[in-house]
Amino acid sequence: MSILGKIMKSKRIYLSPPDLKGQELEHLQAALQSNWIAPIGPHLDKFEELLSRYLDDLPVVALNSGTAAIHLALRLLGVTEKDEVICPTFTFVATTNPVMYQKATPVLIDSELDTWNMCPVQLERAIEDRLKQGKPKPKAIIIVHLYGQPAQLTQLLAIAQKYEIPVIEDAAEALGSCYNGQKAGTWGHLGVISFNGNKIVTTSAGGALVTRHVSEAKKALFWATQSKDKAPYYQHSEVGYNYRLSNLLAAIGVGQMQQLEEKVAHRRRVFDYYQQNLPADVLSFQPELSGTFSNRWLTCIVLNQQKTSVTPLQLQKALEVENIESRPLWKPMHLQPLLRQCPYYGHTVAEGLFQQGLCLPSGASLQVADLDRIVQVIKRVLSV
Ligand SMILES: *Cc1c(COP(=O)(O)O)cnc(C)c1O
Repeated sequence: MSILGKIMKSKRIYLSPPDLKGQELEHLQAALQSNWIAPIGPHLDKFEELLSRYLDDLPVVALNSGTAAIHLALRLLGVTEKDEVICPTFTFVATTNPVMYQKATPVLIDSELDTWNMCPVQLERAIEDRLKQGKPKPKAIIIVHLYGQPAQLTQLLAIAQKYEIPVIEDAAEALGSCYNGQKAGTWGHLGVISFNGNKIVTTSAGGALVTRHVSEAKKALFWATQSKDKAPYYQHSEVGYNYRLSNLLAAIGVGQMQQLEEKVAHRRRVFDYYQQNLPADVLSFQPELSGTFSNRWLTCIVLNQQKTSVTPLQLQKALEVENIESRPLWKPMHLQPLLRQCPYYGHTVAEGLFQQGLCLPSGASLQVADLDRIVQVIKRVLSV
């Protein structure tokens, strides 16, 4: 192997590393120099303003995680013990964990193949069945746009409206994605964004709750800052949390938000490269349904069992030997030991994707040489 080849091989390629190409450091230094190391400060205001402007001027509260945003969304909708909340089975556990915090029960729904997201047919079947069984009407529906690909919002929202059930849109992975030209995160009664280290825009850790009314944003902010009553001393009449995003992290977010479009374009180019250079018959990709625009947060492939006996875990191992990180798709929630008691509606769509799928490196700093290195390994392992 050439020296250049060895150097290229030794460089680790991560799945979705943070990509700090903008003015993050300047903003962070300004925040440090101004001594706003307090949880609040001008960069937090600025970050919320940028987010709100991007998300159709809806009121936004910046929080310390996307999980916290889902938790506050559930509280705003009054979810408590004895309630049921409909969730997709094919998601990250952060979607369902806050339902458990509220001691409510997740009702899990299978995916459909057009988007890999919640199946509208199974959603309606589930609601009808819960009602038939004499259960209370589900208190909320959480819709997830997995890997950045928007769910079938028209059909899902029509069902939610028919049964008058509010929708939480978990757009944690989908900042920069659109459905019929309208941004992901602005469709639900409440929306959730994550700025975790692996997400398309990051503050190292962070999240945001997108609301429809200023009053909701104010209530969420109240709970996120320990529910302090209006009093001259510390007085509390409700349970609160320490969920606010820090001003320092918001400074990084300000620098990141300014590059969102560029990052989406880069991730979409990464996807296109894989699609053009990997064999279409042996593997397939997450579809981008007509009318939807995915930020292509992660490029995921599904191996065709009819065409190859190689498993995703074998492929993951082979990539690891070459110092390339890849990951299995999310393991469905109805297959998790934690949630095995939860009602489940569907078949084996999500399960099939999990068994045959793999997430490939998709970061916004990947270059063609990196992508070529990854593609060559995959082709070798698949013998194509
Ligand atoms: C990342 C993620 C979350 C939670 O975000 P954190 O900021 O990590 O708490 C929620 N839902 C989905 C689908 C996610 O991928």
